[in-house]
Amino acid sequence: MTLLDDVLSYNKQFVANKDYEGFETSKVPSMKAVVLTCMDTRLVELSSKALGFKNGDIKIVKNAGATITHPYGATMRSLLVGIYALGAEEIIIMGHKDCGMGNLDVDAVLTTMKSRGVKEEVLHTLEHSGIDIHHFLEGFKDVRENVNNNIELIYNHPLFDKSVPVHGLVIDPHTGELDLIQNGYDKVIK
Ligand SMILES: [Zn+2]
Repeated sequence: MTLLDDVLSYNKQFVANKDYEGFETSKVPSMKAVVLTCMDTRLVELSSKALGFKNGDIKIVKNAGATITHPYGATMRSLLVGIYALGAEEIIIMGHKDCGMGNLDVDAVLTTMKSRGVKEEVLHTLEHSGIDIHHFLEGFKDVRENVNNNIELIYNHPLFDKSVPVHGLVIDPHTGELDLIQNGYDKVIK
């Protein structure tokens, strides 16, 4: 049995047993917030439950490091669409302690890529096309600084409505305890 086989066979039972009934909700978030956090395995459920959110309460956007890498990339688009089209009224940027993107060893990643068949010439071609691969892959040194940088990028985005509060949090992936980095209500411009 492969992982996919397991998924598909579990799913048949899930639907047949009507297990979905406990999750039924609408696409508009009842707590009117969109949360950007990390794809870390420890946060799969903890990122909602430690904040008191259940299915239907929030929009949740996850990526490696809870980072907006490009002002016109998919993450920023998700936050904007959450606000302008899907009923969110606040944004929470939530990094976490012990993040895999904190001090990510980019050279080790590149070495692994090469050992798995990515050719050196391909990397050179990309560099010559103006793609800075180190910059593309690199994480951050300090999670609090990363949360603050993301919030600054959102506030300075020309498409952002500055009356929307953007909060900054750092979660402990073991206990779920939150550190408040920025209270977004302090910055809103009505
Ligand atoms: Zn992480």
